[in-house]
Amino acid sequence: MQDDSKKSSVGHVATGLIHHPYKPPAEFDAPQPGVYKASTVYFPTVKDMRQREWKDKSAYTYGLHGTPTTYLLEERLCSLEGGLQCLLVPSGLAALALVALSVLHTGDEVLIPDNAYGPNKALAAGELQHFGITHRFYDPMDPDDLSRQISARTRLVWLEAPGSVSMEFPDLPEMVRRCRARGVLCALDNTWGAGLAFKPFDLLADGAGGEGSLFVDISAHALTKYPSGGGDVLMGSVITRDAALHLKIKLCHMRLGFGVAANDAETVLRSLSSIDLRYRAHDSTARALAAWWQGQPQCAQLLHPAFEGAPGHSHWRALCARIPGGGLAAGLFSVMIDARYSQAQVDAFCDSLKLFHIGYSWGGPVSLVVPYDIASMRQAWPDHLKPGTLVRFSTGLECPHDLILDLHQAAQAHLPWT
Ligand SMILES: *Cc1c(COP(=O)(O)O)cnc(C)c1O
Repeated sequence: MQDDSKKSSVGHVATGLIHHPYKPPAEFDAPQPGVYKASTVYFPTVKDMRQREWKDKSAYTYGLHGTPTTYLLEERLCSLEGGLQCLLVPSGLAALALVALSVLHTGDEVLIPDNAYGPNKALAAGELQHFGITHRFYDPMDPDDLSRQISARTRLVWLEAPGSVSMEFPDLPEMVRRCRARGVLCALDNTWGAGLAFKPFDLLADGAGGEGSLFVDISAHALTKYPSGGGDVLMGSVITRDAALHLKIKLCHMRLGFGVAANDAETVLRSLSSIDLRYRAHDSTARALAAWWQGQPQCAQLLHPAFEGAPGHSHWRALCARIPGGGLAAGLFSVMIDARYSQAQVDAFCDSLKLFHIGYSWGGPVSLVVPYDIASMRQAWPDHLKPGTLVRFSTGLECPHDLILDLHQAAQAHLPWT
């Protein structure tokens, strides 16, 4: 449905997302694509209805099977992440669920990093368990532990870089090699990297698909975060480079009826053009705040993968600094507040922040803060984490100096250092 004649030679992802091949309706060339809304799509004849095929996107048949608006967003997300096929789902969590339900059957096992996004673990302990699919958690920082846990029943390995809350950055290429060596599918939750910090389908940055290149089988992405950029829409994507795997996921997607609304797709399309700029701004603000925390006595440990000494920093550098113009790290980091402070003091610190709102999710313009109880989230307290209370910050697009003043006043009020 798209015009390939303009497949431009523009190299950078930001340019590519803006100068994307798109064929507007005749005589209506404008910056933004149209929003096509439909459940029903008309067929001129019954013969035409019988002949149209939605699976390869060669025709439109029903709103749930795709519209020009959703196809366009899928194409742009493929450009962003370096994949070939994309499916849209109603949330990031739905993307994780779709992957699991597509490839796992009764008797299979799925391996999940112990620092994974919490609801992915809950899905495994809930629905997957009910379907007779077992799960185990592996140490994200130990490829040997992953290898040890892969068994004849392992069908899928989840990867996340870095872990959602404790921010450890795994040796992603090595984890993928371990999966390849055992012939196990690997799926990455790529929400943090967003297609910008590293290339999930070209982990060695040597040109995707080339001999000896390394890539994940599946990239799942919560578009709710950086692609949406507004904190106002929920959506997810599942991207692949293998046509057979894509078809398997697509048929499951169809049977589950995971459609997305055209207006939501348009909201993401509108924001996607600025994702590279926003991501860099979130990143640089997060680093300014993290650097401030590093100088504070209340900070027992800084958990930001781009900082020397943070768990997995060398893995972050090896993967992300490889990207031309790269070394990016998103706008997310955590601080382990010294164990001398009670949970109540840390909660009061969070409550007294004026610019940071208390709220889940991230990727929008407003900075967010959430204290987490790591002990209840992990199998055991990891050796690489200092004792204390973890607070996660997601930086918005405010002026970093204002945010630092806010942290300062709240810390002075509720985290006295004597
Ligand atoms: C937010 C998030 C999700 C889920 O996205 P929703 O759209 O909120 O369902 C999945 N993985 C990670 C790492 C996330 O941060």
